[in-house]
Amino acid sequence: MLFENVDAHLKLRGQLLQLFQSNRVPHALLLSGKEGSGHFQLGLFFAALLLCKNVDKGPCGHCSSCKKMLSFNHPDFHFSFPIHLSKSEKSEISADHRSSFVEMIKEYHCIGKQTWYAKMGNENKQGVIGVKESQEIIKKLQLKSYEGSRKVLLMWLPELMNLQASNKLLKLIEEPPENTILIFVSDQPHSLIQTIYSRLQHIQVPSLSVDHISQYLRNYFSVDEVEANSIANSSSTNLHRAISLFLSKENTKEYLSLFIKWMRLCYTRNISDTIDWVSDFSKMGRETNKDFLTYSLELFRQCIVNHYQINLEGLSTEEESFLLKFKPFINHKNIIALNDVINDAYYHLERNANVKILMLDVSLKLYKLVRIK
Ligand SMILES: [Zn+2]
Repeated sequence: MLFENVDAHLKLRGQLLQLFQSNRVPHALLLSGKEGSGHFQLGLFFAALLLCKNVDKGPCGHCSSCKKMLSFNHPDFHFSFPIHLSKSEKSEISADHRSSFVEMIKEYHCIGKQTWYAKMGNENKQGVIGVKESQEIIKKLQLKSYEGSRKVLLMWLPELMNLQASNKLLKLIEEPPENTILIFVSDQPHSLIQTIYSRLQHIQVPSLSVDHISQYLRNYFSVDEVEANSIANSSSTNLHRAISLFLSKENTKEYLSLFIKWMRLCYTRNISDTIDWVSDFSKMGRETNKDFLTYSLELFRQCIVNHYQINLEGLSTEEESFLLKFKPFINHKNIIALNDVINDAYYHLERNANVKILMLDVSLKLYKLVRIK
């Protein structure tokens, strides 16, 4: 994804290449833009360019350095980003969350604040870059580079550095160690403290157009043209939002087939296949498991609502055609118990219950419940 061509960025990429080729790379660069403008991807592109071994063709995508960048394993490339601070949960520096951060980049390409907070477990809690992080950055960047060339730090959302962290980092920004480049990618550059802001070379990244977003979805997520245009139109020209909309639609398709299979197994009381289903389900990850339970509750709710002649809303054609056949099995005699069973399961999943034991138990309860008419 470092080498994706976002047409709208060609000019800015050219500008960054120009800085590089004419040896005018600033030691602290600020790329600012609205969320979903692709400024984070430009930051990654610039980092890859600075570390690429083929100086004339960078980033070439093939050299050992580019390969390490592509797998986010380059020892001279460092990420820094806001986290939910908690001493007891060992969540004090970015490195404590690096693997989920990289997971998010691989999934979304273009990242967003709310998605990141949700991934850390609470989408309503503001992330912070604290003073421990600044100390860690200073420590890392003082070491010699592993590969003998540059060291690059990319900080996402530097505006979320608290005052202590900002002050601590100030000296490093004024006088970075030799061959060290700092790249700051910001949604709100004016929230940076003035002493830092004034020391950065600033490049503004404009928002992408609806056409560019649609093209991106077609090129990198294989979305067909009609769907890509429709998603791009409802994305408020925010690429991250567009990708999130697309991914949640994809999840919904997967959840529906999982749900249909589960309900069939419960109705036919097929214990050995239920055990297999539960085993596959447990491998999907706890967050997905929780999402699926929420999805199941919503489908049950839609069935009940539809009994009262209220039209089904916000459903795909596949969901609608399934629910029209399935709704007789969900009625006023079992809906309360079904809701309780699923809500309880969600509660226990959140508290780290064993997924296999829990979901087999839930399935056995559903064996009885879906037969109540
Ligand atoms: Zn390269």
